[in-house]
Amino acid sequence: MTYREDIEGIDAAILMHPKVWEASGHVENFTDPMVDCRNCKSRFRIDILAETVSTKKKQKVLNALENKIKNNPEQLQKFQKFFDRRNETEEYMESAFNGFLEDPEFGKTLLNELTCPQCGNKETFTSARQFNLMFKTFIGPIEDSSAVVYLRPETAQGIYVNFLNVQGSARQKLPFGIAQIGKAFRNEINTKNFLFRTREFEQMEMQYFVNPAEDKKWYDYWKQQRIEWFASLGMNRDKLRFHDHPPNKLAHYAKEAADIEYEFPFGWGEIEGIHNRTDFDLSRHEQFSGKSLKYFDEESKAKITPFIIETSAGASRSFMAFLVDAYNEEQVKDEKRVVLKFHPKLSPIKAAVLPLVNKDGMDIIAIKIEEDLRKRLKVFYDDKGAIGRRYRRQDEAGTPFCITVDTQTLSDKTVTVRERDSMNQERISSDRISEYLYNKIYL
Ligand code: ATP
Repeated sequence: MTYREDIEGIDAAILMHPKVWEASGHVENFTDPMVDCRNCKSRFRIDILAETVSTKKKQKVLNALENKIKNNPEQLQKFQKFFDRRNETEEYMESAFNGFLEDPEFGKTLLNELTCPQCGNKETFTSARQFNLMFKTFIGPIEDSSAVVYLRPETAQGIYVNFLNVQGSARQKLPFGIAQIGKAFRNEINTKNFLFRTREFEQMEMQYFVNPAEDKKWYDYWKQQRIEWFASLGMNRDKLRFHDHPPNKLAHYAKEAADIEYEFPFGWGEIEGIHNRTDFDLSRHEQFSGKSLKYFDEESKAKITPFIIETSAGASRSFMAFLVDAYNEEQVKDEKRVVLKFHPKLSPIKAAVLPLVNKDGMDIIAIKIEEDLRKRLKVFYDDKGAIGRRYRRQDEAGTPFCITVDTQTLSDKTVTVRERDSMNQERISSDRISEYLYNKIYL
């Protein structure tokens, strides 16, 4: 956003008028199918429960179900419509299995074959029920239905309702985007895998408003831009892939959709979604608010409802992917070195300043360097322990550069800069440190 003139930033409200969430479809559709275990009272999201069942077992259970209904032509036809055996991919079978679990007719039979991952009992699951993921609360002192508000489950809707405000005040023309980073809240039943799935998380979303005739061009453009963004920040390309959503799996608002997935130690998981949302959102907000959200196109002199290409990333989930990707254990001589090989732009500390020893004025020079750098960069001063130990501590934190003040500094005002990954050291003049770091980190 900072580097592009066609994208504006915004910080929209977390609590918005409840009609916003009716218009967006969240009140009606932002649900996950859940089942409860009657014995231990645990609640599971259907797809997460399905993850606990092996592929072999899923296949077996589906075969048993088909066998059980083979004399009922109506049921058999429905089963075969859901599950076309000509499609032999594992992914297809897994997704059909999830669909059956949710189905009121077949779900019960399948669920009775599964054991509760929590208490180990069988035949204890209820049928699947839809559970809305939005946190609900009340505005003002009276807790009745007219005072209901929701904590936003995504940042996108705050952008849509402010579309014309931003477009007009920033004097943008199509195509242009609005981006924001902010908290989103979802009442996830099964939080798991550290930052991967939490109830309160940070999103970074960008909504790109385009002429409807150009939707495909911009959808493809943003897909490519976004995967390149992860790679440009050092993420291993072999651990990145697209998952294109098949047409029958698209969300209610989407014409085309793809996830960017990262291969975590626990398997592939989505880190960002790119969606062609068409004119669904702006049209719905117009309809529910009674206010026009049309854009006046100077060239054609026509009022149009732009299409939206959305890039929706989890800041916290992506950060976790960067963290996992950066983690390295290396053997250095007879010692194990743990190092976070973050791209320098992502390192939380950009440089550490270390006096070799706390005497002869080395500490005073180092403190001065640290104070000077602190105005521009996040730096860390450390004078505790042997220098080798201090380097290792910074390696573990992913700090790309260590600046050491030593005896030579006292005579020629040079310092040592040690680079984290290669562990190479070079001497530079102390009055060039700031420029040196800036060039290495940002250029
Ligand atoms: P999932 O299928 O994993 O629940 P989603 O498809 O519902 O994710 P989106 O609504 O597309 O996710 O949200 C965009 C991004 O927000 C995701 O790609 C992910 O990085 C992040 N995200 C979504 N839910 C969570 C969560 N509970 N915790 C952390 N990050 C999340």
